[in-house]
Amino acid sequence: MTMMLFNVTAELTGLAHIEPVGKDWTDPSHAYNIKLQCERCGWCTRDFVRLCMEEPRRWRKKGIDHIICECADCGRRGAIGIRRQMGVPLRSGVETTVMLLECDGLVPLDGEVGTEFQWTAVSEADGRESDPFDMVLGAELDWKPMQEEGVHMGGDVEAHVDSFVATFSRARV
Ligand SMILES: [Zn+2]
Repeated sequence: MTMMLFNVTAELTGLAHIEPVGKDWTDPSHAYNIKLQCERCGWCTRDFVRLCMEEPRRWRKKGIDHIICECADCGRRGAIGIRRQMGVPLRSGVETTVMLLECDGLVPLDGEVGTEFQWTAVSEADGRESDPFDMVLGAELDWKPMQEEGVHMGGDVEAHVDSFVATFSRARV
């Protein structure tokens, strides 16, 4: 059993910060898409796997898991359970912890991450808030309110999300 912190980091241009619409990082309907690795043989999932508090799955006797996955290589079954959700407005280059995970047989992999909820951004120039936008896998993350909706930010200031990445670290418990 490994307790891990699920951190996200973003590179932002022209934006003070981004955060989920509604500003509630603990919303149980928030779903993230991540990749996994088998702790026994090192096999990695090719596809992204959805992780969401509102989708509990039962396998082990104690605790509720949110991902249950069988290794395609060695056949070992593993599970990940969300134990806590959290977060603060995400500033450029500053890592923010969004979940505490209990991992058994599987560990999440650092890399690209997708979300299935909407985000809002705050302009660095004048503190105005953007319209809701998505951060989905494989999508262009560029968010350019100036060009599309000049009325929100005004001027020719460039603003966009350049990258959105997950990093996982062992939690000290
Ligand atoms: Zn395996």
